[in-house]
Amino acid sequence: MIPFLDLKQINLQYEKEIKESLNRFLHSGWYILGKEVENFESEFAYYCGTKHCIGVANGLDALSLILKAYDIGPGDEVIVPSNTYIASILAISSVGATPLLVEPNLLTYNIDPQKIENVITPNTKAILVVHLYGQTCDMQPIQEIANRHGLKIVEDCAQSHGAIYNGLRAGNLGDAAGFSFYPGKNLGALGDAGAITTNDDRVAEQLRALRNYGSHKKYENMFKGVNSRLDEIHAAVLSVKLKCLDQENQKRREIANFYLEHIDNAKIQLPIVENSPDSHVWHLFVVRTESRESLIAHLTQFKIQALIHYPIPPHKQEAYQEWQDRNYPLSELIHQQVLSLPMSPVMDINQAKAVVDAINAY
Ligand SMILES: *Cc1c(COP(=O)(O)O)cnc(C)c1O
Repeated sequence: MIPFLDLKQINLQYEKEIKESLNRFLHSGWYILGKEVENFESEFAYYCGTKHCIGVANGLDALSLILKAYDIGPGDEVIVPSNTYIASILAISSVGATPLLVEPNLLTYNIDPQKIENVITPNTKAILVVHLYGQTCDMQPIQEIANRHGLKIVEDCAQSHGAIYNGLRAGNLGDAAGFSFYPGKNLGALGDAGAITTNDDRVAEQLRALRNYGSHKKYENMFKGVNSRLDEIHAAVLSVKLKCLDQENQKRREIANFYLEHIDNAKIQLPIVENSPDSHVWHLFVVRTESRESLIAHLTQFKIQALIHYPIPPHKQEAYQEWQDRNYPLSELIHQQVLSLPMSPVMDINQAKAVVDAINAY
């Protein structure tokens, strides 16, 4: 059996260090917003190359709180790719703003910069870019559009920890960025966790209050905040795993390169890396095929687990019934055809070879 992702094996690589840090955490007697969170925040800011990192409870909150800090709400519009994971869009809805869906580039699955300007109105306040599947978006034209129209750029980095675009890390390519450390992400905690990175001093300071009831000083509330803190226990684990993130991403890259070099089947469309090799951290290795169901059945015979990211496009979700009649043909095609092959830092080349052989035999 080749699993899609063996989370237990990933985390057991760090068993000794994780147990040591959990022991330190238990004996500290301080369980919320203490040294572990402070340490992780400064380590992750340093890693991303940003001035600030603010730990929060999860990736969805990270994005919602950024929009709140930029005072984006009812009557405002935020541009977002039409084929993203639903959380990017829910973040916009959660502050009462209107998502403006823009179709992706079919080769990279990332938002198509050429289609952004068509949807901008005087109410548009920001572009929420998603570095989908681990590959950074084509940021240069997006930055030019944002400058021209005075829009903020918010990055959804939930799938792109460590990716580099023109020498800068994801998380340092816009005004502020939201990260998720959900267990299955490239940098994953042992539960829900997230963070925001930014170089904007004002927003960083406001976010530190917003995540903690709108309070900088206990019992004094400057903003109508929420409770969305990164737990000490997760910060301690994340500090251990952050040290090996680049190494783990490199292992993912080796598996991806092996797939790219050896999969050879006219029925399978392989993913494309638009920029330098380090612009993709391969959160997912996504192929496309017109006959997805039969490919899944074929792989299952070979005991290979493949998953679909994602089966239903956001505009066809029941939660967004107001969009039922919209047409986003590229998104619909993508959601009908994509399949994610096994991909993880603990896969070995023999397993990758078994996947390649099964696909080439299809
Ligand atoms: C996982 C994910 C999120 C949400 O992160 P959570 O920590 O689960 O809230 C947001 N956007 C994208 C693209 C994701 O993959």
